[in-house]
Amino acid sequence: MNAFGSKRLCSLQVSFLGATRSVSGSMHLVESGPHRLLLDCGLARGPRDEARQRNRHFPFDPTHIDAVILSHAHIDHCGNLPNLVRQGFPGPIYCTPASKDLIAVMLHDSARIQEDEVHTTSDLGQGARPGGANRRPLYTSRDVNETIDRCVTIDYGVDIDINPEVRLRFTDAGHILGSAIVSLHLQHVGREQRLTFTGDLGRRGLPYLREPSNVPPADLLICESTYGGKLHDSLESMAARMGEIVRRVELRGGKVFIPAFSLGRTQIVVHFLREWMAAGIVPRLPIYVDSPLAVEIAYVHEEHVEQLQKPDRDDIPVEYMLSQEEARIRGMQREPCIIVASGGMCEGGRIISHLRHHLDDPRSAIVLVSYQAPYSLGAQLMQKTPTVRFHGRTWNKWIDVEQINGFSGHADKVDFQALLGSAVGKTGQVRLVHGEAEACEALAVQLREMGFGDVRAPEYEEVVSVA
Ligand SMILES: [Zn+2]
Repeated sequence: MNAFGSKRLCSLQVSFLGATRSVSGSMHLVESGPHRLLLDCGLARGPRDEARQRNRHFPFDPTHIDAVILSHAHIDHCGNLPNLVRQGFPGPIYCTPASKDLIAVMLHDSARIQEDEVHTTSDLGQGARPGGANRRPLYTSRDVNETIDRCVTIDYGVDIDINPEVRLRFTDAGHILGSAIVSLHLQHVGREQRLTFTGDLGRRGLPYLREPSNVPPADLLICESTYGGKLHDSLESMAARMGEIVRRVELRGGKVFIPAFSLGRTQIVVHFLREWMAAGIVPRLPIYVDSPLAVEIAYVHEEHVEQLQKPDRDDIPVEYMLSQEEARIRGMQREPCIIVASGGMCEGGRIISHLRHHLDDPRSAIVLVSYQAPYSLGAQLMQKTPTVRFHGRTWNKWIDVEQINGFSGHADKVDFQALLGSAVGKTGQVRLVHGEAEACEALAVQLREMGFGDVRAPEYEEVVSVA
């Protein structure tokens, strides 16, 4: 029987339980013979009640899962693991050593946010009845500790028999520190089948993380598609643009604010700011990072520095600001500087308090380096309307609003061509996940042109069989 109660005729089946035609809540259930493995266990985002229900209730029995295989430490891939453990999942969680250290940081932060949310909701009288399910946080830091204890780490390029019929190998996905492409060799009643899950695939030509590995061929390839059909800016054009913005702001005596997600984007932005300052492309202004989470993430990067293609240079200093008071004082100082603050879409995080002081500051600039969802403040700032509503009042948007694409940690059209090229002709079905419908469709067209035969984007809860 498979997860949904129908009889299974094939030896390998995959149920797509998240990140289908969307980019949140990555989770796929692999069933091979008697084995049940979960690829990722991410938090779903989206319309509040729907996401809450999806996160709280798994569409399978967690006590019947043998093991979880984790591609990387972003919350949309690992963020529901403590809830799985809390609901009785008994097995190990396989991940790389750097991913284990990163999920400890990310999941404790996530538990804190959820505990705070429950308090805020109950303070406002919006919770369910006292003692109701929605009054409980999804998980607590105790569940996170239990989750971290379950992690079994595997280095890149090492084959591990996780049971006599399932062999696992991680290769470097080059997306964030510790990110992995998952390869499974599955045997059942004398048949051998291969499954590859790309997780999130990185960009080539950003010499900070290592280059992503080529995607291994498989009978079933599950491939991300976030930037299907898109082309990122080149490193040279990004550097020139940043140089021009920082020079302009320095002349006016303003500040450059860069809102960035704490894991991945912040490290890439800081790394290249230092490189470009050392090369004389960007003026040497003080760099401050305003994100408590990024401080802990920076420690993890130091511990795994051998995983980086080009570690951060130390001749250009970066100061991490721990307290909100320190950040406030820095933000008010007269000297020009660059502040990288948490909150990639300006919807939350430390960037909010800087915007409250500088949104109408014509000397300063805000540089958006992340995807901006249509509802977000970041997207509203980019619109050509003369004003914006923020924190209960109307602002004139006198700050310069700039956007630099290219700091992305995701493969673009050219990267997909290069990274998937060696799998053409040796791969069976391809199923596209982790992309909006338009991106999935664009990548599907490209992969068919490359020579992949059976390419589709599955629906939520769709089951794919490999005969
Ligand atoms: Zn990711």
